[in-house]
Amino acid sequence: MMNAGLYIHIPFCLKKCPYCDFFSITDLSLQPRFLDALTVEMHMAPKADGVFDTLYIGGGTPSVLDIKAIDKIIETAHRCFGILSSAEITLEVNPGTVNLEKLTEYRRSGVNRLNIGIQSFNSANLGFLGRIHSVKDAETAVKWAQKAGFENIGLDLIYGIPAQTKASWIKDLQSAVDFLPRHLSCYMLSFEPGTPMHNDLQNRVFMPLPEHQVCDLYETTVAFLSAHHFVQYEISNFAHEGVSRSNSQGFQSNRSRHNMKYWNFVPYIGLGPSAHSFIEPQRFWNHSSVKKYIRELSSGKLPRAQAESLTREQFMMEAIYLGLRQTKGMVVDALDKKFDVNFKAMHAETIADLEEKGLVKFSQNRCALTPKGMLFLDSIAVQFL
Ligand code: SF4
Repeated sequence: MMNAGLYIHIPFCLKKCPYCDFFSITDLSLQPRFLDALTVEMHMAPKADGVFDTLYIGGGTPSVLDIKAIDKIIETAHRCFGILSSAEITLEVNPGTVNLEKLTEYRRSGVNRLNIGIQSFNSANLGFLGRIHSVKDAETAVKWAQKAGFENIGLDLIYGIPAQTKASWIKDLQSAVDFLPRHLSCYMLSFEPGTPMHNDLQNRVFMPLPEHQVCDLYETTVAFLSAHHFVQYEISNFAHEGVSRSNSQGFQSNRSRHNMKYWNFVPYIGLGPSAHSFIEPQRFWNHSSVKKYIRELSSGKLPRAQAESLTREQFMMEAIYLGLRQTKGMVVDALDKKFDVNFKAMHAETIADLEEKGLVKFSQNRCALTPKGMLFLDSIAVQFL
């Protein structure tokens, strides 16, 4: 039995970034009632079979909560879910909401992995993304995190921003690696329907970066980070795998242990508004409304919006898609066995064609995308479905 993961969604932000489609609200007055409801949900929620070895507090902006609230969440999670003492406990923070004291207290509360949403070290880019923090805030936040005793720090960056050049993106990457983080997530800016940025795009308020330039930035990312000892293990995620950084907080790898559960069908429980859970073969998720979430829990009900059992077809589709997102690829034998298929025989022609184009590599038991193939993840996955 693989260890399960626990995710807690904190649905508050000081301000909505125009590109973001994660569920969060800016009415902070609901915080006390949300925190009471979350405690109730932690007691009521299913616990999955097995032990929990990751806790990920994400959002929204968890660092808008005061220190005591984070401390209580972690303490209650330990009590209700029996989280292992060696667990990876990640907290997402926004540089505009932290100070040294807060970060020191988070460390003391048991947070041992910090994910800092930097997005860019360039003021114009931060302005375009509508972030609440400056470049200086971002740099100071990383320095404070190190001073507070965090060894395991991950930084999030975004590329593909209008007018971004290869040179300015390399500057961003260089600024990030100069801080010696353990982990980098580099996300391609996407324009999600329903977001203000998507509306602006449709109204031609700005011109997006041409696709070939975005592809070039992606390839630059992979090459630059590889040269700096960051191994790409998922389409957007890179872990430092050099030997020079000590790992005294007990981690065997700098990869996100929690996020890997999502891509490998390991059970996870999600708490908080909009959070998703998976306990094979069931997937279920909570209401995307803080008020409804509070109302349901105060009347003794789990705030579940919907649940579904994955059909064999859905399961297989996800196994292929999630497998291809990871650089290690799909384990073909396992796929064949689980779904009673012969993947290689079924897709012999497609595989040969994609191999010839340098998009896929098929070795022994694994089918994986090449770094170039990752750019075409969606269209390649469709060919295998
Ligand atoms: S701070 Fe993060 S979660 Fe909040 S709106 Fe911005 S991107 Fe979304």
